[in-house]
Amino acid sequence: MRATCGRSVSRGGFVVDVGGLRADTPGCAGWVFLDSAGASLVPRQVHEAVVAHLELESRVGGYEAQDRAAGLLESTGVEVAGLIGAGAGEVVFFEGASQAWSQALGAVVVEPGQRVLTTTSEYASNGVGLLRWAALRGVRVQVVPDDAEGVLDVAVLEAELERGDVGLVAINHMPTHSGLVNPAEAVGALCRRFGVVYLLDACQSVGQWEVDVERIGCDLLSATGRKFLRGPRGTGFLYVRQGTPLGEPLLVNHIGGEWSGAREYRVREGAAGFASFEHAVAAQIGLGVAAAYARRVGMGWARERIGALAGRLREGLGEMAGVVVHDRGRELSGIVTFSVVGRESGWVVEALRERGVRTGVSRPGDQRWAEPVGGAGGLVRASVHYFNTEEEVERVVGLVRELT
Ligand SMILES: *Cc1c(COP(=O)(O)O)cnc(C)c1O
Repeated sequence: MRATCGRSVSRGGFVVDVGGLRADTPGCAGWVFLDSAGASLVPRQVHEAVVAHLELESRVGGYEAQDRAAGLLESTGVEVAGLIGAGAGEVVFFEGASQAWSQALGAVVVEPGQRVLTTTSEYASNGVGLLRWAALRGVRVQVVPDDAEGVLDVAVLEAELERGDVGLVAINHMPTHSGLVNPAEAVGALCRRFGVVYLLDACQSVGQWEVDVERIGCDLLSATGRKFLRGPRGTGFLYVRQGTPLGEPLLVNHIGGEWSGAREYRVREGAAGFASFEHAVAAQIGLGVAAAYARRVGMGWARERIGALAGRLREGLGEMAGVVVHDRGRELSGIVTFSVVGRESGWVVEALRERGVRTGVSRPGDQRWAEPVGGAGGLVRASVHYFNTEEEVERVVGLVRELT
């Protein structure tokens, strides 16, 4: 199946029209947007839903507006849960993924002396969080090495789990800094076999690929709204599998925890235990619209189209002398990282911006535990989405050629 700008392609009886998707995305016009791994372009449906709620708030106040939007807020829960194959009661909302991830981590029960296994490509913020939490709990963070192809070595992970004393496995599905895809399902199968809690950071994969918590077998999953999911900034969510053996969150409030006496409280079960009172209602409504949009587009189709566009970009860049493509792994995401020999990546990003192409820089500090590539200046990160076109990819290849 191949989708071309403006032409309709069939997806299991539905019609996905890339021209229509672009028409839904005013931010596509006038430049080439290749930064969906940073903060993507929201569809106009998301924008309109957010603005409509802000207008309602300005007319009737935040509480009345929330009462009137109860149905929309409820559908955010349903749509986001539906997108990842979860039950609506298994999802709770935050202002970002790091918040969601940190809260989840804080509730994981470990014994002093246990080990926490993670991966070289873990997000820098998660790394800091793991070290802090490990110090609080008296556990040790152990980074599982990569295999020959650059992804988390599942055989080593299995051997480490076999040694025992593992309290948690916390990895990412796709890192922020390269096209790598970690073997999330294989890790899930191992965690189930050894009965170890599995926390998956799915920031870059939700909205880009099918992410199904049953198939992956994770107990906890965090994601952000603004990246491939195309939701508003300041949104994120946490999935908590029903029945996951967790302790209390590190910090509790009167929504996640209920008063059960003058000096007693009871933390609510599962995801509800992480809820808090205040939230950006308009943004949360927008997140629900983004999730519904993603489900309508179809994540199987999205993955295929993003893969085809990113593949062509890598191919075009890889053919050039003076350009090095750095993505490694058996499967690759829509994040394309490259460097131009003799040029600082920041310079390349700026030069592309002047020519109407938005990319970003992937810095070594984004993933402390990975082998640094591209020197201190990092790599150019060009992340494609399904709304990009073949023509745009060819234009970018041509522009990079001029810069070499
Ligand atoms: C962006 C990102 C995060 C952090 O998400 P926020 O919403 O900014 O907190 C975590 N992990 C990965 C892999 C990311 O790409």
